[in-house]
Amino acid sequence: MKISQRAQAVPPSATIAVTTRAKQMKAEGIDVVSFAAGEPDFDTPDFVKDAAIKAMKAGQTGYTATPGTIELRKAIADKLKTENGLDYTPDQIVVNIGAKHSVYESMQAVLDPGDEVILPTPYWVTYPETIKLAGATAVIVETKKENSYKITVEELTAAITDKTAMLLLNSPSNPGGFTYTPDELKAIAKVLEGTNIMVLSDEIYERLVYTGTKFISFAALSEDAYNRTLTINGLSKAFAMTGWRLGYTAGPLAPIKAMGRLQSHMTQNPVTFAQSAAIAALTDKTGAVETMRVEFEKRGKYMAKRLNSISGVSCHQPTGAFYCFPDVSAHYNKTIGGAEITDSMSFAKALLEQASVAVVPGSPFGAPDNVRLSFATSMEQIEKGLDRLEKWLS
Ligand SMILES: *Cc1c(COP(=O)(O)O)cnc(C)c1O
Repeated sequence: MKISQRAQAVPPSATIAVTTRAKQMKAEGIDVVSFAAGEPDFDTPDFVKDAAIKAMKAGQTGYTATPGTIELRKAIADKLKTENGLDYTPDQIVVNIGAKHSVYESMQAVLDPGDEVILPTPYWVTYPETIKLAGATAVIVETKKENSYKITVEELTAAITDKTAMLLLNSPSNPGGFTYTPDELKAIAKVLEGTNIMVLSDEIYERLVYTGTKFISFAALSEDAYNRTLTINGLSKAFAMTGWRLGYTAGPLAPIKAMGRLQSHMTQNPVTFAQSAAIAALTDKTGAVETMRVEFEKRGKYMAKRLNSISGVSCHQPTGAFYCFPDVSAHYNKTIGGAEITDSMSFAKALLEQASVAVVPGSPFGAPDNVRLSFATSMEQIEKGLDRLEKWLS
């Protein structure tokens, strides 16, 4: 059967080769330590599950309003007000089927062929594909290690053309594990003043920040920033709810309404009883997120310390998300255990085959010198995996 040019242009995920092989090795009984996870290793808190069960039993099993129930959008508006200092009415919020859907749908709503989207490296693998699917062009800006892989004012200014429609920001970053400081964001906002450039701010890891890092929403910087920003967030990472598929977008009324129109024909509302569970999560007073954050922080500190003690491996202390993103390029053009290491792909492949440790190569994130290690796994696994990595590289 014919396959559309659109679908043909989307390659299979380049990160999947390593994870597929890791799963296969596990199935063969090999004791693989996996640092490949892109989701929390915690289960969804019980009170969230209970809220879904209660909603389901109460008959909340039909359609809701396309952009989500008014109750949920009010709870999101309250959260954005109290935690982020952002004033959005429920009309300015659309609930999506996960933040991944928010990214896709928002780009479909605002981008046209010929538009350019500034995409700093390292980027989440989904961004270039969603930009392409909207018919727009990704303008990839290579950031520098000495700037903690954050885009600078000079780099941003140089990338802007009269076709620039959007800047993509993801802080805290997957895969980089860094977080932009308020001053860095203010400097970026200043560059955009007087332009028509929108900002898509993916804030999914907002609650997972470490070592005293202060998170600030881009839209909260100024009125100018507010008016040009689509704020994307969701329940997956903070509340360990990846399988529930709940994300949301907040922004100016026109794009949010456009997203609602698209959503009414694509997916309709997010799962009805999951929306009730989301209200329970967002209004939680038990501190469930903080408990998980504290554990992530402990692991991230340990992992970064261990990585930096290994010769030819260097990484920044993660300030957000749950990833270390070390530069391992000092080991390229070497032969380890008979395998030639030429890039992040061959590094990850040899590490998995020879030491049974799964990491994700950096090249699909636009960062060929690096590999990504997730610390969304137990301390015991982290110790074991890093022992193996250290031994393998020596
Ligand atoms: C995990 C992730 C998302 C989306 O997660 P959903 O489960 O679709 O809500 C969005 N952006 C980044 C950077 C992520 O890592």
